[in-house]
Amino acid sequence: MQRIHFIKLLASLPLTTTCMNLNALKPIFDFVTEENKMPVLFLGHGSPMNAIEDNEFVEGFKKIGKQLNTPKAIIVISAHWETKGTFVTAMEKPRTIHDFGGFPDELFKVQYPAPGSPQLAKSTKEIITKTVVSLDEQWGLDHGTWSVVKHLYPMANIPIIQLSIDYTKDAQYHYDLAKELSQLREKGVLIIGSGNMVHNLGLINWQKLSADNYAYDWTIEASSKMKEFILSDNHAALINYKQQGKAFDLSIPSPEHYLPLLYVLALKNKQDAVDLFNDKAVAGSLTMTSVKIG
Ligand code: ZN
Repeated sequence: MQRIHFIKLLASLPLTTTCMNLNALKPIFDFVTEENKMPVLFLGHGSPMNAIEDNEFVEGFKKIGKQLNTPKAIIVISAHWETKGTFVTAMEKPRTIHDFGGFPDELFKVQYPAPGSPQLAKSTKEIITKTVVSLDEQWGLDHGTWSVVKHLYPMANIPIIQLSIDYTKDAQYHYDLAKELSQLREKGVLIIGSGNMVHNLGLINWQKLSADNYAYDWTIEASSKMKEFILSDNHAALINYKQQGKAFDLSIPSPEHYLPLLYVLALKNKQDAVDLFNDKAVAGSLTMTSVKIG
């Protein structure tokens, strides 16, 4: 790493925690040696069937994958790993978890054998000061991760870890925690939030599953506001999603698919471009809208 960047980094660290942070950063410097800042992605993952179907959303994921430089590693914050406390997967070989039911055998046969990165897991644990991060040896890659990452990196050759979502914490907490990951982004780690901005499975219109861009009025209202807030950097409005009225209440009946968006927005720098893609609704109450930052 260039000396000037190291000095800038030092200057950005609070004085009281400088010594601790420097020790914590060492494994990252060992792990990542060149400057290679990555974009940050929010991916609307939708149905697990997107893992094996050929559709416009899959095309969108593939297209974005081709635009990215090869990252040193990937960290995914998936809607499907909620825990009490915060964990990172730290095994050498994360298993492919088929965390769903009622789908064809073909989907259960999908494997995504990307390596883990115990080293990145340790570095992530050490740079997060907001809470104690525990190293996990049990989880692996859930479908919120592999059903989309497989379209970005079909070779499964990039080391990948997951960071869990602490379900006891509020939106502001998650947004603040995410900011601590920014050093990893600077050093060539691709950070992905995987969820869906509008996600109300209870109100899905199954008859309209194949209809193009079918959305309820409140889905359109909430989705439009969300996009407006994203594009105008009004993160406060998105963090305070519970104060945004009925359309938001219906769109976010539980927060796990929405919170990964806040992780991604927290990592936006002022000068970063923001691109939306896969911006369509499915079956009334789900949006696939995805975001590329940087
Ligand atoms: Zn999901």
